[in-house]
Amino acid sequence: MAVLMKGAEVAAAMKEKMLKDVDELNKNGITPCLAIVRLGSKPDDLAYERAAVKKCEGLGIKCTIFEYAEETTQDRLIEEIKRIDGDTSVHGILLFRPLPGHINEDAVKYIISPGKDVDCFNPLNAAKVFAGDESGFAPCTPEAVMEILEHYGIQPEGKRVVIVGRSMVVGKPLSMLMLKKNATVTICHTRTRSLEETCRGAEILVAAAGKARMVKDSFVSGDSVVVDVGINVDESGSLAGDVDFESVEKAASYITPVPGGVGTVTTSVLARHVIRSAMAGLGA
Ligand code: NDP
Repeated sequence: MAVLMKGAEVAAAMKEKMLKDVDELNKNGITPCLAIVRLGSKPDDLAYERAAVKKCEGLGIKCTIFEYAEETTQDRLIEEIKRIDGDTSVHGILLFRPLPGHINEDAVKYIISPGKDVDCFNPLNAAKVFAGDESGFAPCTPEAVMEILEHYGIQPEGKRVVIVGRSMVVGKPLSMLMLKKNATVTICHTRTRSLEETCRGAEILVAAAGKARMVKDSFVSGDSVVVDVGINVDESGSLAGDVDFESVEKAASYITPVPGGVGTVTTSVLARHVIRSAMAGLGA
């Protein structure tokens, strides 16, 4: 039976350091502040927003929500983001994506300044991830995956890592973070042949495909460490990861649950980024 890698345990360990940093900021008259910018009210966005606000406020980070109608024009959105970005009391900006179809993301993505771009929307931060430069902000979810592995003492160095999914939000940046840790990385996608066999050869397998329970026990070996990034709603309306937890738990060595795995740590990474941005103002 696999060891359960619990997001709450990782988040609790991260919390201690963050509380100290927030205390230090408060002593210097600073309250770290996250601005959340949302167009429309998609249930997924609202669920993440609630979790992010709860996590941040529990750490003493102020959250301000800027909610706009889904039909908001591109020009108005850019104007608003510029205004929020220019506010010195705001240390981080989270903009929900994907943006509605009438807005060209390319026209918006450079507007959040890199220092406040706590979820790596600005290509300058993405470029740093790809260059192995840790001075920017990596996207929160891939960083959460690395944090979980580190917490459980699993070193990617020299290991065969297989990532299922190549999005710019998860798969691609995660592959770069793994490479930075000297893993040997394979990225799989919908055109990958022999997916099952490739996954079975992984020492660390990360599922980020957005397909409920697609990773079965036949995708893993007894030594596999399995990290499930997926958050899906299955045919019966229940929350499910990309991993068929019941069968894989019996076949792998470590596994993250859904819920209670990567998602829990993702909001902690977001909070840590906001604090780091605020600390930069102290010269930290
Ligand atoms: P995308 O839909 O943008 O990307 C999915 C990727 O998976 C694509 O590269 C796609 O390949 C690949 N893929 C899809 N189906 C298969 C398949 N059957 N076999 C092999 N590869 C496949 O999703 P995201 O990266 O945004 O998200 C992935 C999952 O992670 C989702 O469930 C999402 O909800 C979840 N998520 C969780 C977060 C968290 O904090 N826990 C945060 C962000 C996302 P191709 O490129 O060929 O189409």
